[in-house]
Amino acid sequence: MTNLVRVRYAPSPTGYPHVGNIRTALFNWLFARHHGGSFIVRIEDTDVTRKVKGAVRAILDSLRWLGLDWDEGPEVGGDCGPYFQSQRLEIYKETAERLISQGDAYHCYCSPQRLEEMRAEQVRRKQPPGYDRHCRDLTPEERAKKEAEGIVPVVRFKVPLEGRTRFNDLIYGDVVFENNTLDDFILLKSDGYPTYHLANVVDDHAMEVSHVIRAEEWISSTPRHLLLYQALGLEPPQFVHHPMILGPDRAKLSKRHGAVSILDYREQGYLPQTMFNFLALIGWSLDDKTEIMSRQALVDNFSLERISKTGAIFNREKLDWMNGVYIRSLTADEFFEAVQPYLMMDMAAGEALISDEQYVRKILPLVQERAKKLADVPALTRFFFELQLDLDLQTLIVTGMDVQSTRKALEVVRERLEKLEPFDENSLEALLRPLATELGLKTGQLFGTLRVTATGETAAPPLFQTMAVLGRKRCLKRIEAALDKIGKELA
Ligand code: GLU
Repeated sequence: MTNLVRVRYAPSPTGYPHVGNIRTALFNWLFARHHGGSFIVRIEDTDVTRKVKGAVRAILDSLRWLGLDWDEGPEVGGDCGPYFQSQRLEIYKETAERLISQGDAYHCYCSPQRLEEMRAEQVRRKQPPGYDRHCRDLTPEERAKKEAEGIVPVVRFKVPLEGRTRFNDLIYGDVVFENNTLDDFILLKSDGYPTYHLANVVDDHAMEVSHVIRAEEWISSTPRHLLLYQALGLEPPQFVHHPMILGPDRAKLSKRHGAVSILDYREQGYLPQTMFNFLALIGWSLDDKTEIMSRQALVDNFSLERISKTGAIFNREKLDWMNGVYIRSLTADEFFEAVQPYLMMDMAAGEALISDEQYVRKILPLVQERAKKLADVPALTRFFFELQLDLDLQTLIVTGMDVQSTRKALEVVRERLEKLEPFDENSLEALLRPLATELGLKTGQLFGTLRVTATGETAAPPLFQTMAVLGRKRCLKRIEAALDKIGKELA
């Protein structure tokens, strides 16, 4: 198959790409790269009414973010361009005319109102929906009359009234449609734009696409496409329909299930390497157990055979877990780079980043272990940057201690910290462990008191590391603040 593989990702810019769209792009990309073939991006912008501003940008940004580079398409060009269907209208028009002249298509003059009535009637009679072929056999005189009335027609395909259309889908196997279940679908709309069916077939042929890999929702379009290939005397590509991504309730993944736009995931701080790995494993697997796979391993091992036939669930816990794994695998510098934009959005952290980058660099390794996504980092690090913690007396007085013993402990720690040299993790531990015994406290009690004093929280990164990074000055200030609070309570 090498060199002959040419696949395409053909999004319509009718919205921002969601995880389902991008997974289709990823499967195509992996297949192309595995076989040393070409990955083409083609923008199917023929539905003028549904075009969304900024959607093309979002599509290309999403692909770039995940590193799905394309060999032909927008911004890179290629021999089969243009890669925007709106710039190829002539080709579709010519094809539609050819189909009319050879008797495989016809002009339809039905008004929207007539079609509406027809539909209502079909519903009333519980008949399957579809065009009733009213204009299929108009006489030349009837047609001339409609033309004279100035009605701009659409072009419809003459679907054979009998027979079957079948194809061998590389995932679903033998797929058969009875032709009499298909209506005479539109090829060219009255605005001169082609429909999806016509443009898709014309371009897949013109762009020498070898495999059409797309979501299962398009499977019912495929017999129409095959009839078109046949009428045009063209060899169709191989068809590969893959199952859709499902939400936890097994319904098609949608906004109801949370963020679905791929760029939302970028914003929340999922790493591109996580998304790449995670999306590749929705409905495809190496061996049903391997989860963490590099780009190269995915390229090397990708095969259509291992795409499952059933819809795969979008598992957010797994995504969070996987992002944690990839976050932990970053070097300190990479983590710092990745997290910077998120810190900049936080006032206190942003200021620290500008005034004391070294301090921020020391903090980050303490939370890298715990962050599930980059957007968590400002909250996890907030106490490092706050000038004054919001101390809660209830939490400050830990189990088994009271106001008096807490005050005593903090006073002694304050005194010892003033003299501690060097002020680092090891000396802090060497000081504080025995100090607990000296004060007649359990280590957990003393450490708990200090954790709340230093961070305002009961769960925080390891205490001695945290105190060392905070530094002597901040630690003493925070002890002072806690003592103040206690003093007020006792007053
Ligand atoms: N334009 C269609 C879409 O938005 C393409 C479907 C196909 O791949 O044929 O997904």
